[in-house]
Amino acid sequence: MYAQVIVDISNDAVDRVFDYVALKDTEIGMRVRVPFANREVLGYVIGLKSTTDFDKTKIKSIIKNLDSIPKLKPEILEVCKFMCGRFFLRLSDAIKLVLPSCVRLDKSSEQYNSYVRLILDIDTAINLIGKRAKSQLAIVASLNDQIEIEYTKLCEMFSRASVNALIDKGIIERTFTRKLRAPEVTISNVEKNILTNYQQNAVDMIAGKDETFLLKGVTGSGKTEVYMTIIDRALAQGKTAIMLVPEISLTPQMMSRFNARFPNLVAVLHSGLSEGERYDEWDRIFTGKARVVLGARSAIFAPIEDLGVIVIDEEHDGSYTSETNPRYFTHDVAEFRARQNHCPLVLGSATPSIDSYKKAKDGVYKLVTLPERVNNIPMPKIEIIDMLGELMEGNTSPYSKRLIAKLDECVANKKQAILFINRRGFASFVLCRECGYRAKCDDCEVSLVYHKEDNELKCHFCGKRYRALTNCPNCKSTNIKYGALGTERVCEDMQKMFNVPIFRMDNDTTRVKNGHKNILEKFAQTTPSILVGTQMIAKGHDYPNVAFVGILDADVSLYNSDYKSNERTFQLITQVSGRAGRKNGDGSVVLQTYAPKHYVYRFAKNYDYDGFYDKEINLRETTKFPPFSIILRILISSKSENRAREVTKKLYDQAQTLKEKYGNDILFLQAMSAPVKRIQTKYRYQILTRFTPCDKITSDFFKISDIIEKDVSIFVEINPNNLR
Ligand code: ADP
Ligand code: ZN
Ligand code: ZN
Repeated sequence: MYAQVIVDISNDAVDRVFDYVALKDTEIGMRVRVPFANREVLGYVIGLKSTTDFDKTKIKSIIKNLDSIPKLKPEILEVCKFMCGRFFLRLSDAIKLVLPSCVRLDKSSEQYNSYVRLILDIDTAINLIGKRAKSQLAIVASLNDQIEIEYTKLCEMFSRASVNALIDKGIIERTFTRKLRAPEVTISNVEKNILTNYQQNAVDMIAGKDETFLLKGVTGSGKTEVYMTIIDRALAQGKTAIMLVPEISLTPQMMSRFNARFPNLVAVLHSGLSEGERYDEWDRIFTGKARVVLGARSAIFAPIEDLGVIVIDEEHDGSYTSETNPRYFTHDVAEFRARQNHCPLVLGSATPSIDSYKKAKDGVYKLVTLPERVNNIPMPKIEIIDMLGELMEGNTSPYSKRLIAKLDECVANKKQAILFINRRGFASFVLCRECGYRAKCDDCEVSLVYHKEDNELKCHFCGKRYRALTNCPNCKSTNIKYGALGTERVCEDMQKMFNVPIFRMDNDTTRVKNGHKNILEKFAQTTPSILVGTQMIAKGHDYPNVAFVGILDADVSLYNSDYKSNERTFQLITQVSGRAGRKNGDGSVVLQTYAPKHYVYRFAKNYDYDGFYDKEINLRETTKFPPFSIILRILISSKSENRAREVTKKLYDQAQTLKEKYGNDILFLQAMSAPVKRIQTKYRYQILTRFTPCDKITSDFFKISDIIEKDVSIFVEINPNNLR
């Protein structure tokens, strides 16, 4: 037998499939060690066959099978192959996505606790040892009055040699138990609500079908309850489930709800796990012990079989598009797995992406709606405050009078408030008022952000830190202007104004392990209190005492100048507002803006998703933006600006020939420097194109970009979320 093996060589440009002589037990999907160019490398068996086209006298043999059971299940190998076709990936890259590195490279594999205990009675033991082996006698004596002791501890107390000698003589026994490194979870009370009519109807429409559904339900309409009931039904039929949530909404609350509902059956996969925890959670799924996988986007690759349902919660969220190599779009993978397993795929959201909603309208997805909150609790009222008006009336602070009044009321009523500001740090930039000097990162073409807590300037692109400025390095003036406010500054201001606990949740405060969990748990237990945070506070949280939500600078995301910024702003406002008044209907929202008449705010204020959709889809159609076209960007970056330009020029010439080939189907084509010209000392150029949706054109652009250029990296993105 011959095995077709993909060798795992990093930075290799092409998929290398080689034939090797298979070993007796070699199976498809196994990891193997193979000889390759005078060394031994890791490989994956992707096929077995009885003949080979290679010279039989020269063909080498697999050195060793690294798995007794193939780590790549057939179903997952199919997923990899699908991804190669859909996203133009190399098979070796796809395999790296589906096998986490701890599994692929056997890092942090199983750990065991090892204990020893005396198995003979003490007198027999002493007789057997004899008088001379003092150390062995001492060990036996110490073991006599306890049931068992950890092997390593005993070795430290005495000597390893003596301990091992006793084991060899059969006087003491060593046992192993697998140490499971499980992520910390808290389990809330089991809640099993009687479904509302809308919920029941949704469950009945979805469960057991072999189709894709868009579940559009306002915030607090009980979507999670619907997911859990559908999963329940799948489990009852002996099937399994995957539930995906955006990384940031994989909150302790969601985990505890799942753990309460499906005790011991849930495995979680997210970026906050240690390697060991990830390995063990993966293994629980692989061996079938976990039946429900709850995780961020890469959990779609979980090695779980007999899927009965896949859920993508907050399906509009940008995190489902992977923005780094190897790139993929989670929905497509989920759809493939759902059809493989003939089970439903549920895309849930209060604010579906324009793309998904169009598909639902076109009948590609089945639309299911939950039009009202559970118990008919009203949506919080959104008030739009014109900040220019405030300024005219002499209020120069970033907080409107109405906002402060609402916070006062909230605190007086012993309720909680959430303040949303999509900027972390204290101030967004530092500028000299005299000479115009602006603090920038040495390695990136971006302004530095002032962090007061650490009294440092930080680059939010590369993380580099700089000493804070007291005067201008250019003209020595002390007349320094600080830019727009961020989470730190808001916290400081709130502390001055309100005598209640203030919590902050952003990338800086959640970096530590369980950071999220700790902040949210404290917030949940503290009334009155104020939580200040970036968009990570927008999703999934269900805290009954939150009565007020303040959106401090709604315009931040509106002027992001890409085609999705309207959509994203509408979604953010709706999601953040949805945190208020979930239990008692006493919620209210203040939204501060300099563009109070913007249609995004008008529709958001009335929770008019359909109105917003109609307006937006019209705009996209007339301007020919996605989903009526495809935007493709080729990003070229290099430490050498010259090289980056050369390669950009070369690719642009190629792109021009495609333009000739496809004529008016290519709506736009231009080469230019990227919006952020330099990141981490690399110069960045881009070729931006927009064309009528067509697989052939897409694949042609991928083809021209699939070249190797020394010292230059080339990266292709489709409909990117953030052009920077
Ligand atoms: P969504 O995911 O749509 O925002 P959730 O599933 O979090 O909504 O539900 C909002 C709140 O309503 C939760 O506290 C949940 O426990 C509660 N809930 C959901 N369904 C019901 C029901 N049928 N009866 C009573 N309470 C419910
Ligand atoms: Zn200056
Ligand atoms: Zn930087």
